[in-house]
Amino acid sequence: MKQKAIIIGSGPAGLTAAIYLARANLNPLVFEGTQPGGQLTITTDVENYPGFPDGIMGPDMMDEFRKQAKRFGAKCLFETVDKVDLSKRPFTVFANDQEYSAESIIISTGASAKLLGLESESKLMGNGVSACATCDGFFFKDKKVLVVGGGDSAMEEATFLTKFASEVIIVHRREEFRASKIMVDRALSNPKIKVMYNSSIEEIIGNKESGVTSVLMKDEKSGVIRKETCDGIFMAIGHTPNTKLFKNVIELDESGYIITKPDSTYTNLEGVFACGDVQDHTYRQAVTAAGSGCMAAIDAERWLEN
Ligand code: NAP
Repeated sequence: MKQKAIIIGSGPAGLTAAIYLARANLNPLVFEGTQPGGQLTITTDVENYPGFPDGIMGPDMMDEFRKQAKRFGAKCLFETVDKVDLSKRPFTVFANDQEYSAESIIISTGASAKLLGLESESKLMGNGVSACATCDGFFFKDKKVLVVGGGDSAMEEATFLTKFASEVIIVHRREEFRASKIMVDRALSNPKIKVMYNSSIEEIIGNKESGVTSVLMKDEKSGVIRKETCDGIFMAIGHTPNTKLFKNVIELDESGYIITKPDSTYTNLEGVFACGDVQDHTYRQAVTAAGSGCMAAIDAERWLEN
């Protein structure tokens, strides 16, 4: 059946677009993808989303978003899109050996924080391990935290974390930073920040109840492994936009993010819109993603009308 609109991705951006399109009677079809609910489903408390003065668990919040979208007629499929044909209209989306066609497409496939790939890292994600200082920094008041990475994100997150933490240690695998000089200078002039160069994380120690208690850190030069106590660890080693499906299909920037026209969610393809982290490497917040999801739905609705 031909849809008016298909939404690919189910984080705050995609599900907000679904709420708006459903309320406009456009019966959107949402492909939830490999991580239904998006990145928020790997966090614990969300305390910065307006309207939840007591905070809400990330997965619970996304369940509420989905419920709200379905209430107005959005259909959510727990399926992953494995191919798209955006070369002609109606557009075609392929998932699980089935074809779906739609007059417009909203892409909200998000971005994924790069992780070290340790088993202990995924086990303790949201319980002392985080990939977002803005989201979780508040939980580390007067604590000692580590920030892994040597780029602008690591400098920014480390500096931000000094608002809460008593001690912040940047752990970088090399001797030179990739970050811009101004960001490095700002971070290193902060008395709460120290750096461990030529160091990598071998293991994160802790459990879900008490969180992170220490890490095993390797000196890349000597190979010596030692224990460093800490209360939390932030991964700031970059993000990867989830745009594999759209390579050579839609205009992407040099880092792989979808390029949207200024002050809109229009991509270079007529009828294809993008919202949320897949087109935003600056703000990356649930509330900004939701805001851009609303923009995408309004852009798509107006485009469909014309
Ligand atoms: P990035 O520039 O790619 O830096 C990633 C850092 O993580 C690098 O130092 C890298 O080490 C390290 N790294 C990568 N994989 C690692 C691994 N497996 N183990 C240990 N370390 C690892 O990413 P970013 O800092 O997120 O920045 C992304 C873009 O956003 C950049 O263009 C940046 O300028 C921009 N940004 C700007 C601002 C700002 O201006 N306010 C803030 C944040 C980000 P190596 O150096 O050894 O490769």
